[in-house]
Amino acid sequence: MHDLIVIGAGLAGLRCAGLLSAGGLDVVVLEAADAVGGRQRTDIVDGFRLDRGFQVLNPAYPALRRSVDLDALALGSFPVGVRVRMEEGMAELRHPLRYPLSIATSLRSGLVNGRDAVALARWAAPALAQPLSRLARNDVTVREAWDSAGLRGPLRSAVLEPFLTGVLAESRGETSNAFARLLVRYFVLGRPGLPAQGIAAVPEQLAAHARAMGADIRLGASAGRMTALGEEIRVELIDGDSVRAARVVVAAGPDAVTDLTGLARPATNGLQTWWFTAVEPPTASALLTVDGRSRGRGPVVNTVVMTHTVPSYAPAGRHLIAATCLLPRGADPAEENDVRRHLSEIWGVDVSAWELIRRDDIADALPAQPAPLGAARSPRYAERLYVAGDHRDTASIQGALASGERAARAVLSDAGPSRSAASLHR
Ligand SMILES: Cc1cc2nc3c(=O)[nH]c(=O)nc-3n(C[C@H](O)[C@H](O)[C@H](O)COP(=O)(O)OP(=O)(O)OC[C@H]3O[C@@H](n4cnc5c(N)ncnc54)[C@H](O)[C@@H]3O)c2cc1C
Repeated sequence: MHDLIVIGAGLAGLRCAGLLSAGGLDVVVLEAADAVGGRQRTDIVDGFRLDRGFQVLNPAYPALRRSVDLDALALGSFPVGVRVRMEEGMAELRHPLRYPLSIATSLRSGLVNGRDAVALARWAAPALAQPLSRLARNDVTVREAWDSAGLRGPLRSAVLEPFLTGVLAESRGETSNAFARLLVRYFVLGRPGLPAQGIAAVPEQLAAHARAMGADIRLGASAGRMTALGEEIRVELIDGDSVRAARVVVAAGPDAVTDLTGLARPATNGLQTWWFTAVEPPTASALLTVDGRSRGRGPVVNTVVMTHTVPSYAPAGRHLIAATCLLPRGADPAEENDVRRHLSEIWGVDVSAWELIRRDDIADALPAQPAPLGAARSPRYAERLYVAGDHRDTASIQGALASGERAARAVLSDAGPSRSAASLHR
């Protein structure tokens, strides 16, 4: 019998397994897929590196800094700012503290007026100073918070709303204001980027560490029924085998957690990413680009030339362009001709010669974070059974890792004095 079974080798499961293996526990990780990573996978397709859905890594996430060697990821960093397609042309807003010379351009763009700038500062200032627990007090939706801060002009409608739609995977402004502010804090503190080898380099590093600490990570091992047998829990595998341990952490993701635990299914939002290649990039800019013209023009919520930031994502002489759309539950996914039409409007170039490499539809991309934002939930859900994942914390890489850490602490403290004396360190 093992000390612990972790079900799921996404960020949460791997972080938990790494910590507890390092703490001296005998840990087995069961992963249904053919590789670790969960929602953070990268595939090599015709020499391109395609993440399973466009995402970025913010090196300011505290749990990320604790868990991985950031230098080893060789991050390519996106410029902190956004390009905005307007009727009159393309406008650019960059982070004023990082790029002081951009302030004049931002003011000339027509996107920022004095009243909006003050309202934005009023809205964002608490994000920089206050802990999440304080931000979450009297939480409302981000739409209500912007209304009451007096943020109503183009800075909201043409920049913040289109930008946050892609980040939050929803366009109605129903996300918790506290969560939106927390993300803004990370955008101010860190410069998001991507590992040269693809987003999968993050879970691969966590898995390598967990294995080095003694964890046994089994791929293609889909966990099914769990049964308590006295002091142990038996986990049946779909292939008929079974594994026993004193405790089980279910880190299976929001789509699978209910079947395994009986807990309520977390609400999620979907995203769809289109990966195109072109010989000529549509711009020399590496900024994420959104459509700031009047609403309803969709379906693309953001697009970016990946290879300006991470050239290793494409073979020499080719460019990789990502375009992301929302994938609302029950709605029809965006169609290729609509995406191409919208991309040619946004970029202002003919995209008909771009080759579509792959389209990723991810229905459960991010747990929804409605207002009021709840506190991170306890990892304990039954006797010797624990649950971890971004849906127990915040919908992010930070949330998944922090949840894995919390589950590890709970296991260690429940496992008795000899175990809890072990320290949790990377
Ligand atoms: C398109 C997209 C864009 C994103 N953008 C960002 C971003 O920019 N910034 C950010 O911070 N976050 C982003 N995220 C979110 C981030 O990727 C996730 O929060 C994080 O990866 C979740 O990790 P997890 O361990 O909680 O769950 P998961 O990654 O879902 O891991 C769960 C694992 O459990 C396995 N599993 C499920 N059922 C079983 C079973 N029965 N037996 C064995 N194994 C099982 C699954 O195969 C999977 O490997 C994005 C996500 C997506 C999809």
